[in-house]
Amino acid sequence: MASIFTKIIKGEIPSYKIAENDQCFAFLDINPLAKGHTLVVPKKEIDYLFDVEDELYRLLFTFSKQVAKAIEKVIPCERVGIAVLGLEVPHAHIHLIPINSIYDIEFSRPKLKLSEEEFKDIASGIRQEYEKINQ
Ligand code: AMP
Repeated sequence: MASIFTKIIKGEIPSYKIAENDQCFAFLDINPLAKGHTLVVPKKEIDYLFDVEDELYRLLFTFSKQVAKAIEKVIPCERVGIAVLGLEVPHAHIHLIPINSIYDIEFSRPKLKLSEEEFKDIASGIRQEYEKINQ
């Protein structure tokens, strides 16, 4: 069965999309640790990040860098942190999280509750920056 992220990539279930290229896709995490918390996934459905073949692995990290540069333009933060867990969704993904302290990337703490409007505004701001940087 297709993963929930494959369904998002195919547009079968909604997401707050940030950007995509031929092989990768980025969208807001629905249970964010911080405003701008983004997931970057390969379109090819592979469970474990370290099973992703080298070329796609490099593309995924290059794309993550481009997305992170857009996030930091929109969300005030000291830097964009990066984390990989994969304990919940068996489709490789990278978390990009705006952080100001170690606490901001603590996955066991309560997640933010954002309204649909807030998610839309954040996604649209980051998307516009991504497009500006990568036009
Ligand atoms: P993990 O697999 O442990 O890295 O966690 C999966 C992440 O995916 C969690 O942070 C979830 O909030 C996020 N997530 C799960 N379903 C969705 C969805 N439909 N849209 C956006 N993010 C999701």
